[in-house]
Parts: sequence; C-alpha cells; structure tokens
Amino acid sequence: MGQIRIENLTKRFGGLTAVSDVEMTIEDGEVLCLLGPSGCGKTTTLRMIAGLQQETEGDIHIGNTRVNHLPPSERDIAMVFQFYALYPTLTVAENIAFPLRSIRMGSVEIDAQVNSVMTALQLHDVANRRPGQLGEGEKQRVAVARAIVRDPNCFLFDEPLSRLDITLREQMRGEIKEILTGLSKATVIVTHDQLEALTMADRIAVMRAGRVEQIATPHEIFNRPANLFVAGFIGTPSMNLLQATFCATKDGKAGFSAFDQLFLKEAGPLGSGLNLGSKVTLGIRPRAFQLRDYGSEDGISVEIELIEPMGAETLLHARTQGADIRVVVDRSHKVKVGERMNLAPKPGQTLVFDQNEQLVMS
Ligand code: ATP
Repeated sequence: MGQIRIENLTKRFGGLTAVSDVEMTIEDGEVLCLLGPSGCGKTTTLRMIAGLQQETEGDIHIGNTRVNHLPPSERDIAMVFQFYALYPTLTVAENIAFPLRSIRMGSVEIDAQVNSVMTALQLHDVANRRPGQLGEGEKQRVAVARAIVRDPNCFLFDEPLSRLDITLREQMRGEIKEILTGLSKATVIVTHDQLEALTMADRIAVMRAGRVEQIATPHEIFNRPANLFVAGFIGTPSMNLLQATFCATKDGKAGFSAFDQLFLKEAGPLGSGLNLGSKVTLGIRPRAFQLRDYGSEDGISVEIELIEPMGAETLLHARTQGADIRVVVDRSHKVKVGERMNLAPKPGQTLVFDQNEQLVMS
C-alpha cells in the first residue's frame, strides 16, 4: 500500500535550515496539500519524498519500506512538475506511453493502458498532436496522464496549476481532484495558492520557515486556525487580528475591549481560562461583522475610508485609531466613504489567541 510517512525530516543547506523536523503521514487515498509562503520549504519537502534531494536528518517511509536510501526510480512515485517537460517530438499518445515503454511493457497492454488514461483525461481528440500543438490545459492533462499511466504507489505534484490562466485553473482544480479521488493513492500537492489547497486537499499542512504550523482538514484550518500565522495566512481578504483586553463590563459581566472601546460586551465561553486584564488577540473574519449605528453600545466605532466593489460583495476598509479593519458586506448595503458606524462581531464568529499567538478559544 502507498501510505507516505515522514518522521523528523530536516534539510539544511549550509547554515540555512530549509525544512525543520517535519512529521506527517499521508494515508493511502488521501490528498495532502503543502501550503505556505514562498521559501517556507514546501518544494524541498516534496523533493526529499521523491528522492531528488538528500535529507539531512529523518526518515521517509512509503508503504512498509524506508526509502531514504532508494533512488527516485525505485520509490514507485510519479511526480508532476510545474514545468511539464513533455517530449516535443512525440505525440500525446506516445508521450503517455513513454513510461510504459521504458519498463518494456508489451505493446497490446501499453495500448490498453494509454487508451484508458486518455479516456479519463479526455485526450482522445488530441492523441496524435505534438506538445507544440496543444493548449496549456491540454499539456497539463497530458503530464497528469503520463504520471498516472504507470499506476505508481503515490503522486507528488509541484505547483501543478501555476502556469494556467484563472479560468483554466478553476476547471483543472476540479478535474484533478476528481481524478485523484478515483485513483485512491497517497498524493502530496505543493502550492502557494490557498484556494487550490482548500478545494483539492483532504488535509492541508500549512508551513512557515521550514516548520509545519498546522495539519488539518480545510474546514478546520479555516474555522479553527491553530495560531496567528495560520489565521492571517488563510482566507481572503485576510482575517482581522485585533489587540484586545479581557475586561469587566458595567453590568458585572466580562467582555473584550479593543481600541479603548467595549468591542464584545459578553465574552461568554470565549473568556474561559482568562483573567481580567489579560491581553489577547481577537480574530474576526471580514464577513463576520454586523454593522451597527454609530455610537451604539455594541462594537467599535469606525469611519469608512475606502470601498472596493468585489462583484456580489463589497470590501470596506474601516479606520479606527490608525488601524485598518476589513469588512465584507453584501453589495446591497449602501455605504459611503466617510460614513461612521459601529462594527460588532456576529455571534460565535470570534477567535481568541493568547500572547503566545496560539488559539485558545473559538
Ligand atoms: P517557493 O514557493 O518559492 O518555491 P518553497 O516553499 O517551495 O518556496 P523551497 O524551495 O523548499 O521553498 O526553499 C526553502 C528554502 O531553502 C529557501 O530559503 C530556499 O532559498 C532554500 N533552498 C532551496 N533549495 C536550495 C539549494 N539547493 N541550495 C541552497 N538553498 C536552497
């Protein structure tokens, strides 16, 4: 079986630690996306799994085999790169057949395998064309076809969609997800595009500076980010992170103040474990605000500084004491620049992070 298990994986380039103590297991049939900003160690991790880069420390198991010492060709992995590297003089069908010819499979069997993969990826119409006569989306499909035709144990994709335009990307995201679901193999996809990760992954590993910050389902990563980095990295527009204090309110309850105003008048369970006066960071997504009349008891008073139409929704940039708070509302809300209002969080949509930047309550 094709489970990939990584233990204490570290890679140093001279004084630079590119990957630090990474641990993860990708189950047979699971799609895991490595997501993170440029330079966080995603590609290096993928290349170590493939055997293209020697690890400094740690172990890599595929199925029941420790593969650290095995060359890429003996790891039974197929890798699809950002640059597809199709053979320009071969037709689509010949490109797909190439890995099978190199293991000396019989021609009847090759034809059957190539046909079946071309059907899955809808490539029959272009079977006799050469790569120079294909569009980018077709080239991408040929690269995927060539990777899956060998029926390897697992798949590795390095930024597979980054060269496609937006429309094609949307289409291919769905297509690749569907194909991977049908294949039931352990798959690792490297991407810096969070939408790609959120739509294609069963689980996402968010990386920063060589370390894994959180591994969880897309739903969990979005709704319960483990720390401030993941909270700020996932979601567009990004989550508002407001400095706040856990405080007593007039009516003898406890709430949170921010910008010297009572932002949330009833902390409820969000205050569990906090002492009055504790400093925290509140995380509120731009779509998690309710707009209130200026000066009302609820929420913080802001002034709208900039309005960005986004189609069905509108992004408002609200100012208070120099801070920029991003608020997304339905475009039917008629708001003007310079307008004043109060912003209060919708119930159940505030996250609390402690001074160590870790999620404590949501
Ligand atoms: P990107 O999205 O930009 O490709 P990444 O998350 O894939 O980034 P890596 O390519 O894994 O990041 O690089 C991690 C760090 O290791 C970077 O600081 C990079 O400059 C460094 N690095 C990668 N390969 C080498 C190498 N062969 N020699 C020296 N440093 C390297």
